[in-house]
Amino acid sequence: MTRSPNEKNWFEPLDPSGTSFDAAFEIGESYSGMNVRIPVHVRRSPNDGPTVFVTAALHGDELNGTGAIRQLILDSTFQPTKGTVILIPVLNVLAYDRHSRYLPDRRDLNRCFPGSPQGTLAGRMARHIYDELVSRCDFGIDLHTAALRRTNFPNVRADMTNKSVAKIAKAFGVPLIISNRGPEGSFRRVATEAGCSTITFEGGEVWKVESTICEYIVRGVRNVLCRLGMLQDSLAEPASQSVVGQTKWVRADYGGFLRFHVAPGDVIEAGQPLATNTTLLGQEKNQLVAPFAAVVLGMTTLPSVSPGDPVCHLGQLSPAELQQTRQPGRSLHDSLHRRTKTELATNVHVVEPQDHPFLNDETENR
Ligand SMILES: [Zn+2]
Repeated sequence: MTRSPNEKNWFEPLDPSGTSFDAAFEIGESYSGMNVRIPVHVRRSPNDGPTVFVTAALHGDELNGTGAIRQLILDSTFQPTKGTVILIPVLNVLAYDRHSRYLPDRRDLNRCFPGSPQGTLAGRMARHIYDELVSRCDFGIDLHTAALRRTNFPNVRADMTNKSVAKIAKAFGVPLIISNRGPEGSFRRVATEAGCSTITFEGGEVWKVESTICEYIVRGVRNVLCRLGMLQDSLAEPASQSVVGQTKWVRADYGGFLRFHVAPGDVIEAGQPLATNTTLLGQEKNQLVAPFAAVVLGMTTLPSVSPGDPVCHLGQLSPAELQQTRQPGRSLHDSLHRRTKTELATNVHVVEPQDHPFLNDETENR
C-alpha cells in the first residue's frame, strides 16, 4: 500500500492493520522548485518492539547498501515479529541524482547533523532527516562504501563504549569492528548521542552493487534484528571478531606506479610488504611496509600515486587478536568471508613482493 507523499504522518500506515507500506518524507525543494522527498519502506509488526532504521546512500555514490536494502524490500519473508523496520535505499537523494558523494552545495551531508531549519541546504536537509527519522528510532544501521578509487573490506564502525551500540555492532557479524564515536556532525554520532544507537557499515566501492558485500549487509541486518528479538532466525556469526581502536593510512612517499602485495581483508604482520612503488618502466623506487600487525581494512584501487596519496588503510591488531585470526581452519567456518576476500581481490592486481619481472638480471644488463 502506498501513502500519498504529501501527508505529514508518513510513519502511520493508511490501513492500521497493515504490516508493510511505502511512504516518503520531504526534505526540501530542488532548484526547479520541485518538492524533494525520500522514499521509504516500512515493515511493521503488530507487536510492540524497537524501531530500527536501515539507511544507504547518505553519500550519494555509495550504492552497495542501496542494493542490499532493495533485496530486503523485495523479500516478502523479511517480516519482523516485533517492532518496526524503516528501510531507506537512498537517504541523500540530491547527491544520488548527481552520482556524487556531495550535495549540490558541495557539502558532505554526513558532517552536517543535527542541522538546523535556518541553516544551509545541507543543514536543513540534515534537520529534516533528524526530525523525521532519528527522533522516531531506537536503533540505526547506516550503510556506506569506501570513497572514490578505494575499496573497503566489510567492517562496522561503532562507539563500543556505548553498551547499546556495542550490542548491535557485535551482532551485525563482521570480523572487524572499529571503535570510535565517529566524526563530529556525522549521522552515526549525532543519532547515537540523541538516544538512537547507530552503527555504520563500510564495504566495497562506490557506483557498484557487489554481490558479497550485499550478502554481508543482508546477513548483518538480519543478525541485528535477531539480537533485538525482532526476527526469529538464528544469528549467523563470523568465525572471529576483532575490535580495533587504532587505524592508520599508509601513504605513498613518491610519485609512481604501485605493485600491490596485499588485498583487502588480509591479516599482516609488522614489517610485511604492502606495495612496491615503481617507475613507469618498472624500476623499484621504494617498498611500503606495515608499521604494525594489522588487518587491511581498505586500499586504493588506483595504482598510480603521488607523494602523500593513501595506499593501504590498516586496522591495528593486538598480539592476541593476530593469534586468533591465524588459527588454522578459521576462515573455513565462514564461506562468506572467503568469497568476499576473493571478490574484492579482483579489484587490485596482487603479486608477491619477490616477483619483480622487470628487476631481474636481464634488467641490470640494459
Ligand atoms: Zn560514505
